[in-house]
Parts: sequence; C-alpha cells; structure tokens
Amino acid sequence: MAKSKELQCSFCGRSSKEVPVVPGADANICIDCVSYISKLIDERMSPEVKKERASDTKAKLPPTPLPRDIKAFLDQYVIGHDETKKVLSVAVHNHYRRLEASENRDADKKDDGVEIEKSNILLLGPTGTGKTLLAKTLARMLGVPFAIGDATVLTQAGYVGEDVENLVRYLLQNANGDVELAKRGIIYVDEIDKIASKTDNVSITRDVSGEGVQQALLKIVEGTTCRIPPKGGRKHPDQEYIEVDTTNILFICGGAFVGLDKIVAERTGKHQIGFGAAEEDGTKKERLDVRPEDLVKFGLIPEFTGRLPIITSMQELTEDDLVRVLTEPKNSLVKQYKKLLAMDGVDLDFEPDALKELAKAALSRKTGARGLRAEMERLMTDIMYDAPGNDSMKKVVVTAEMIREKLK
Ligand code: ADP
Repeated sequence: MAKSKELQCSFCGRSSKEVPVVPGADANICIDCVSYISKLIDERMSPEVKKERASDTKAKLPPTPLPRDIKAFLDQYVIGHDETKKVLSVAVHNHYRRLEASENRDADKKDDGVEIEKSNILLLGPTGTGKTLLAKTLARMLGVPFAIGDATVLTQAGYVGEDVENLVRYLLQNANGDVELAKRGIIYVDEIDKIASKTDNVSITRDVSGEGVQQALLKIVEGTTCRIPPKGGRKHPDQEYIEVDTTNILFICGGAFVGLDKIVAERTGKHQIGFGAAEEDGTKKERLDVRPEDLVKFGLIPEFTGRLPIITSMQELTEDDLVRVLTEPKNSLVKQYKKLLAMDGVDLDFEPDALKELAKAALSRKTGARGLRAEMERLMTDIMYDAPGNDSMKKVVVTAEMIREKLK
C-alpha cells in the first residue's frame, strides 16, 4: 500500500505524524491550529457580528413549515395513513422549531432556559405501506438532505459490516459535503425491528449483536460527533476527518415488528387489533396503540426506545388504497405510463375495474404497494412495445379482462 506523504502544518510546524494535517494549495494546517483559530475568531467576534452570522446561516435554511402544510404536501404523494401523517407533521415542525430555539440561544438571544428535546420517530407498519416514502417525501418538502440505511447490515464498530457512522456519511454525501446542511438532515433507518434482541421468553440466549448495534445507533441518535473520512472507505489513523455533530439530525426508524400486536394484546387484554392485514371485509383494523414497554418486550433496549419518543403505527393498505396509489399521487404509476405513451401519441386509459384487478393482484402478493410496480410492468410491457408508431393503437384502454389474462 502506498504510504501517504508527510505534511507539515504551516502554522505550528508539526508534522502529520503527530497530528492530522489538512493540505492546502500553498499551505497546510493541522486540526489543532484550525480549532485554535476558530476559538480566537469566536472570542473576538462582537455580539452584533455573532448575531449577524447566526442569521446568515438561518437565511440559508428554508423556513419552518406549518404542520398542516407538511401534511398537505405528504397527501400529494402518500395515500392514506392520515393519523401518521399528522403525527409526523407535528413532530417535524417541532423539530425545526427546536433548531430555531437552539440557534437563538447560540446567537445570545434571550434564553428562557427551556430546552426542547429532540423527537425522533418510530414508524411501525407492514412492508410496502409507505414508511420510506413518507420519510423521503418529508425530506423533499423540507429541502434538507436525506439518507436511508438498513439496520440489518449495520454492525458494532470493529465488526465486519457497515459501521453506523456510515449513515451520517451518506447524509453528508447527499448534502454535497455541506456539513451545516447535513447536521439538519433526516436519516431513515429501515428494518429497525431486525436488530431487536430476542426476548427472554422466546429464547434463553440473548442476541448480543443486535443489542450492540442498538447501543451503537443509540449514540448517534442521541447526538455525538462522528468523524467521517472525506473520501469514504475505511478509517485509518493518518487520515483527516470531517466532523459531523448528529445532535440535530432527525432520525426516523421504521420496521414491520411482526408479532408486536400480540405483545400489545397481552398487555391490553384486547384481541383483534393490530396493524397486520385488513379485516376480511376490507375494513381497516384499529391502529395499534404501542407503548415503549411493548417495544422493550419485543427486544429493543429501553435506552433506545427512550430516544424514539414518537411512535406511530400504520396499517396495511386495503384494495381501495392500492387503487388510489395507482392513480392519485402526483407521480402515480398510471400518470407515469400515460405521460410516457402520450409522448408517442398514444392515449392510454384504464377501466376502473382494471385498476381494482391490479390492486387485488398486488394484495395477494403481500408486498403492499411495492407489488404494484411489478404487476404494472408485467402488464404494460406489450403495450409499451406495440403501441408507439402503431396507427391502429392510438387509443389503448386497459380492461379488467386484459389484466386477468396477463397476470394469470
Ligand atoms: P415501506 O418502507 O413501508 O416498506 P415503501 O415506502 O418503500 O414501503 O413503499 C414502496 C413503494 O410503494 C413506494 O416507493 C411507493 O411507490 C409505493 N407506496 C407504498 N405505500 C404508498 C402509499 N401509502 N401511497 C403511495 N405510494 C405508496
């Protein structure tokens, strides 16, 4: 392996053997000198300049939207889950208000001593119901960077697998390296239920690795300074790092939590509840009223559930919901295919029964709305192949019969 060139700090003269040195075009600087200079600037800056600088950063950041505006935006892209959207909208609004409050404090504005705590969110619900979509849509609305991670590939530091700090690295990448922006971003951690340690009544041997990942995640969720290698890859001692404080990053965790409904039922003595399948008659089940102690019983460590104070459960999408998913969102599949074919001069339409048939097919696969795309692709390939440039196919109407035939 090529050895990295030794650098010397142009200010204090120490070499990169002693201290990390950041190279520049004509001069280099070590991290100690950076922090010394930064402290000096901070001390000498007048309160007015400080205030101005704080409002400068604020000016760069989009204004905090109202909860009802956040929900209205989510409604354009995500079908159903009204209650969850409300909970999310309030939580996100409060999160950004909290940041404003802490910025005011930093800028020495009047401080009443009330510190608003971070409210990370736990989304519970079956696969394909739109948990990731909700988190992604939120980030888009807020104009903040967003990163998705999968809890199942995360490991404790020092083990083979992905270090939890990689979540922050992705966020920084998505913020184009802008640390200030990354520090206010949103990280969505999927499959959080998979790192639950097995509860005692299921197995006598505790799943230590799951717990280790929870501990590691806990740190960055609570707020810590991550040292991110600028060019990615593994960390090594001579490297310079970019420091990202995670205190103000909003964490949204999601998971299916299969079996949690039974734990809740045990506690409440009520059965027939849960966020699993809809009832036979297509009506939705009552939303699951999950408490932190249920999650602990499921296998999350109490400290971790304590850092996810906002818990909201989502139900499986019904057939009607899936029809709406096909047609209503701003970039729904039906709208996308119509647009594509319109560009080839083809007018595409779907009979209402055809959409129901597609929804039924996706429902039977138990992959939620995720299955719709696969069903649609299978259906549309022939039409997309035959119709463009074909004068006898200027208008195509997809019928229920066509779908039954195709998806047999
Ligand atoms: P989850 O994270 O709950 O497993 P995703 O958000 O990844 O589910 O959903 C997969 C895809 O299915 C989304 O990209 C979106 O196209 C579609 N989808 C899922 N739920 C919804 C919904 N409620 N409204 C609109 N589209 C949805």
